Amino acid sequence: MSFAALGLAEPLLQTLAGLAYRTPTPVQQQAIPAVLAGRDLLVAAQTGTGKTAAFALPLLQRLLGETTAVGAGMVRVLVLVPTRELAEQVCASFVRYGAGLPLSCYAAYGGAELGPQMKRLGSGVDVLVATPGRLVDLFTKGAVRFRELRALVLDEADRMLDLGFANDLDILFQALPRQRQTLLFSATFAANVGELAGRRLQKPLRIEATPRNTAAKTVKQWVVPVDKKRKTELFLFMRRDRGWRQVLVFVKTKKGCDELLARLQAKQIAADTIHGDRPQASRQQALEAFRAGAVEVLVATDVAARGIDIDGLPQVVNFDLPLQAEDYVHRIGRTGRAGQAGEAISFVAADEAPLLAAIEALLRKPLSRDEEPGFEPCHHVPPTAPGSPAKARPVAARPGAPARAPRSNWVDEFAGGRKARSAPRKPGNRGR
Ligand code: AMP
Repeated sequence: MSFAALGLAEPLLQTLAGLAYRTPTPVQQQAIPAVLAGRDLLVAAQTGTGKTAAFALPLLQRLLGETTAVGAGMVRVLVLVPTRELAEQVCASFVRYGAGLPLSCYAAYGGAELGPQMKRLGSGVDVLVATPGRLVDLFTKGAVRFRELRALVLDEADRMLDLGFANDLDILFQALPRQRQTLLFSATFAANVGELAGRRLQKPLRIEATPRNTAAKTVKQWVVPVDKKRKTELFLFMRRDRGWRQVLVFVKTKKGCDELLARLQAKQIAADTIHGDRPQASRQQALEAFRAGAVEVLVATDVAARGIDIDGLPQVVNFDLPLQAEDYVHRIGRTGRAGQAGEAISFVAADEAPLLAAIEALLRKPLSRDEEPGFEPCHHVPPTAPGSPAKARPVAARPGAPARAPRSNWVDEFAGGRKARSAPRKPGNRGR
């Protein structure tokens, strides 16, 4: 199947050829013709599946059919996203896919000054990518109007609801024209997403590009049981021992991020952090440096779990497990993108067993446990899933001992299982 067969216009086909996109991904194959036909969509697609192009390409094409330029203060396509990083990234995708077209795209999010955003919106934009909180602020101040709106995209809808944007979304829906196309994308399908879709979509085409609540099959996932106080030592050891070059490390708190950063920098490791307390510009800088390879270890809170797109990222380490099981899927979605292989390694201390159980229930499979010789925990991590006893390897005398068991810890099949249980959520980045 080619992009041309999906009905895309020549200028877009040329851009795709330039990007060396040869074959549409499954979500693109299903979504592009339906969006071109004007249908509403309800799409379950995890990150890394090519979902951004699945909505950006056909929406750009629909915009090309407009006969007049967008009016002052108006927006034709609105994309709502949960975080600032995702806003920048989705806008960059529109710019990339729409290269050479007479269309404009702008990203507006919290943490940046309102004034310049209001000014830019004054002249109208074809595609506005925004976080809901900031868009409500801009709308309330009269900086943006929706009379010319043709299409709305809710990207990572589950995450927007998780982050407490439901009220802001309600306010925005009141302001949007009823006659519009609505596309809802969500990596995971929680009940509240279904409810939102039921209220806001018109006879949507349902597309399930990936199994529900699963991670990419190309990601090799495993757990390393370890005592909490030895996690840094374990990370340093595994990084050196396995030759990790570029690794994204998730920790639970901003404080934890900064502490780990200090310990890595003390070892002369090129590292940086990305979390909600850092100004937007320095978060963006850290991300760029990581993408370029100048930063080898990027330590992040869940704010970075969504939307970060780094080609060929080989390793994600969960230094701490996420409080919300769904975040595990998003975290590890940073690797194994677009069919590439990746590894997701979770360091689990005894008190994190309930979080591990919630993740395994969500994935409907036990995660393989693989102790690192020399780091066997004194505090045993209790069993979490039936039939997944801790797999202890022969104990080596000290960290760094050469003995290594074969890494036969691929877990690809999904057995039927229990329903997901999630730990209570902490307030996250509202992108306001
Ligand atoms: P997304 O799921 O939208 O974040 O996209 C994941 C990655 O896949 C991005 O780096 C895209 O540039 C890339 N990508 C999207 N569609 C294709 C395609 N049809 N062929 C090759 N790469 C693609």
